[in-house]
Amino acid sequence: MVPVKPRLMKRKYNSHHLLQTLLFVFCLLGGMNTAFSQPGNSKVSRTITDKILRDLTLRIPDFKLITKYSAAVKPDGSWPDIDYSSKAFTVWPPEEHLIRLQTLIKAYVTKGSICYADEKVFKDISNALQYWYSSNPKSDNWWFNQISTPQSIGESLIMMRYGDKKIDKELQGKLIERMKQGDPEKWTGANKTDISQHFFYRALLTEDDALLSYSLKEFFSPVNLVYKKEGLQYDNSYMQHGLQLYVGGYGTVFINGVFKVASYLSGTPYALGADKVALLSKFLKDTYLKTLRGQYADFNVMGRGISRPNVLDMTSVKSQLLVVKVVDPNNSTEWDNAIARINGLEAPSYKVTKTHNQYFSSDYTLHTRPPYSFNVRMASKRTIRCETGNNENLLGRYLSNGATNIQLSGGEYYNIMPIWEWDKIPGITSRDYVTDKIETLSWGEPGTNEFAGGVSDGIYGASGYMLNFDNLRAKKAWFFFDTEIVCLGTDIKSDEPEHVTTTINQCWLKGDTESSLDNNQIAKDKTITHSEKSNVWFLHDNVGYYFPKGGDIKLSTDVQKGEWYRINNSYSKKEITGNVFKLWLDHGSKPQNAEYAYIVLPGVKSAKEMKKFKANELEIIANNPTMQAVYHKPLDMLQVVFYEAGSITVASTAIKVDKPCILMIKNFNGKRVISIADPLYKEKTATLTLTNTNKEITELKVDFPQNEYAGSSVDVK
Ligand code: CA
Repeated sequence: MVPVKPRLMKRKYNSHHLLQTLLFVFCLLGGMNTAFSQPGNSKVSRTITDKILRDLTLRIPDFKLITKYSAAVKPDGSWPDIDYSSKAFTVWPPEEHLIRLQTLIKAYVTKGSICYADEKVFKDISNALQYWYSSNPKSDNWWFNQISTPQSIGESLIMMRYGDKKIDKELQGKLIERMKQGDPEKWTGANKTDISQHFFYRALLTEDDALLSYSLKEFFSPVNLVYKKEGLQYDNSYMQHGLQLYVGGYGTVFINGVFKVASYLSGTPYALGADKVALLSKFLKDTYLKTLRGQYADFNVMGRGISRPNVLDMTSVKSQLLVVKVVDPNNSTEWDNAIARINGLEAPSYKVTKTHNQYFSSDYTLHTRPPYSFNVRMASKRTIRCETGNNENLLGRYLSNGATNIQLSGGEYYNIMPIWEWDKIPGITSRDYVTDKIETLSWGEPGTNEFAGGVSDGIYGASGYMLNFDNLRAKKAWFFFDTEIVCLGTDIKSDEPEHVTTTINQCWLKGDTESSLDNNQIAKDKTITHSEKSNVWFLHDNVGYYFPKGGDIKLSTDVQKGEWYRINNSYSKKEITGNVFKLWLDHGSKPQNAEYAYIVLPGVKSAKEMKKFKANELEIIANNPTMQAVYHKPLDMLQVVFYEAGSITVASTAIKVDKPCILMIKNFNGKRVISIADPLYKEKTATLTLTNTNKEITELKVDFPQNEYAGSSVDVK
């Protein structure tokens, strides 16, 4: 595991707009038509820097901005309003100098710009570069010193190569020398590609073939599957900051950076190999894009970025996909479909297929159907819980307690985070504190339980999680079908004074809330408590929630208040308010063997439809400390989470297992198809014994996948 140091995640792709990228792609395609013969060293560099230049100068900076910066810059090349002595950690003022410098350079080198080849602007640029070199500002955050600054200087110098007048050779040389920051070999994942990127720029500036090969080797080395390390995983997920789920956030930085540089190299001898392109496309297509619903991402995959404004809005992905199309045109249909969903030209359901993915490396479950996504975040001793760091995601302590992301339209949780009650994150079981508890440990806490995993055949599946965190234990399981997700909890135990709660959902209130409790709609701004023995339902924003065994159910549709600062100290203290639909079960104080059962029905459009739901078609066969099981009658499908070796009888057939496992039997009453997984990641084999009514015994031997594929599902023949 990489040493945990403070680092900062930046989302550079936001600066790209669709039109820019369209232009860029057009240029790239045009560029590829140019005959490429006998590439000499400088010619290859030139071909690549041509593309970098086009990418960086797609949009001429605003004229007002250029004149403002040019007028304000002092003769020594500094700006009076920038605090160059600041060493600030997250928002570092001297970075503004480099941004302004690039603005002036773009204006100076771009034909058609009013400042193209302008003498005064050239002088400003030279002075600003000189000032930067002489004053050498430094942040306390290594990310600025070793990544952001050398990258920015590299881009500036590359662009200036295309200027009417060139930067003084000596100054250039000194700045290039100063770019030697960081060591890509010491890093993994997105940080590695980020450092390699300025090595790549330096290689182009110095026309150093060996450095170019080295930087690209390092740059693309994270495009490989890794086991028990940060980076792209065997389960097709992405982890960073230890073995921590980061499909969004760092995963975004990684995939964008890699595809961007790959697009620069297309048509040159350095073009990315087909095997690496295939790995990237698989991650993008089968994982990354599946974490999006319409234009919005699953909050589970963002890491500490969940605490930043607008982070779930993934509109910028569509322009990235245009870059991807240059590198991997074979999957253009996939990329086009995703673009259509993201930009809203098509519904969020457009070309969405039925899939179920169990991420056995990162403890994450992703279940998609055309009408919805339902994803679960778990943790184990094999993974790191969602982190806090740099005073970001201060309240994200319980995100890995089995958070469920339920999206239909996509925007259900968009920017709700400042006003969330953070021990009632959707799906989790937690102690219910009066005041949300701040996480004091930075950079992620390892999970404390062994049992976490799921069975999957790619379309259906079940997940089981033995939660053990914050002096609270619970066995939580999810059973995924087409129109229903059955959520069971059992063995819920705590000796702490707080009540323990399981939250069904906490999303923006949208429209009316209806319920079986009375025939009237539940008023806005209301909190209700209801204890009923059985068959209670609620309907809100096209999602039905059914409680077959009732429970101590609480619903609030009230106004909640908060500010971004409360969860992320880099953002505003301005108060935000909004009505929230919050539905939870109260297990009381010091529960010793509490349980719950609820069924989520995404896509129910009316109370009339809700009343037609046949709960008896979903048979909850077991929900006890040894096992949790659901039989779906119409699908003829059985799913069982065995926490111990044991047996269960369904439709006169006894199923016995000699190891803890998670099991799914499709076509139960016909020609059975059995899938099984080991949620403890330690067994080599298991024996499955089926005994039918006539006492006929079938014994099936299971060989569990090992090492890189431990925890993954296997079909039993
Ligand atoms: Ca609370």
